[in-house]
Amino acid sequence: MKDLLLQVLREESIWSGRYLVFSDEHDRGAYIPDLDTVQRTMGDCQRCPLCRTRKNIVFGEGDAQASLMFIGEAPGAVEDETGRVFVGPAGQLLTSIIENGMGLKRPQVYIANILKCRPPGNRDPLPEEVGQCIGFLESQIDAVQPKVIVTLGRVATQNLLNTSTPISRLRGIFTEYKGIAVMPTYHPSYLLQNPSKKRDVWEDIKKVMSYLQISRPDQPST
Ligand code: SF4
Repeated sequence: MKDLLLQVLREESIWSGRYLVFSDEHDRGAYIPDLDTVQRTMGDCQRCPLCRTRKNIVFGEGDAQASLMFIGEAPGAVEDETGRVFVGPAGQLLTSIIENGMGLKRPQVYIANILKCRPPGNRDPLPEEVGQCIGFLESQIDAVQPKVIVTLGRVATQNLLNTSTPISRLRGIFTEYKGIAVMPTYHPSYLLQNPSKKRDVWEDIKKVMSYLQISRPDQPST
């Protein structure tokens, strides 16, 4: 009975706010939820008003033990329809970066968003929505324990790193989240509108590849 109660309390604490999401327990080797537990705890989440306008919750997908994690902002229209993360036009560009640029397969990485439900009209997430939702993402990070996180765009970067510094000053420079290397870069949807910025993103991605010692199959390994 006591064990059951503790399990319930732990699962509830996943979404109890960004400072109660197992963050301190991570280093002490205490309980860390797996992705299934995080998703089960989320359930048919109604913790913020976006539950009333979404069609599907977009939890995230990929390798549960990935070395590399991409974090975006929130689902768009295609993601809302399908329940899958980064599968619209911006998602196709991200997939191309992963597969054609890095030489990986998309299922080898883990991809998630700050928000799991689409804000109407793709508006920016509200602080209270982020406050209710970001605990799920933090638990996903705890569960996957990637070596590198790439944050895509201003919203993902500022909310994960808890900063208001502009993305233009943060991108391209490794920083840290709970001991995990973080590389901020531009969001693929921004690249669709500003193709000249693809060069900057490729420079950022090359730093990530170097950090993870990823070499393209058509590149020499040294
Ligand atoms: S955005 Fe997050 S907190 Fe809000 S309803 Fe969706 S899953 Fe729940």
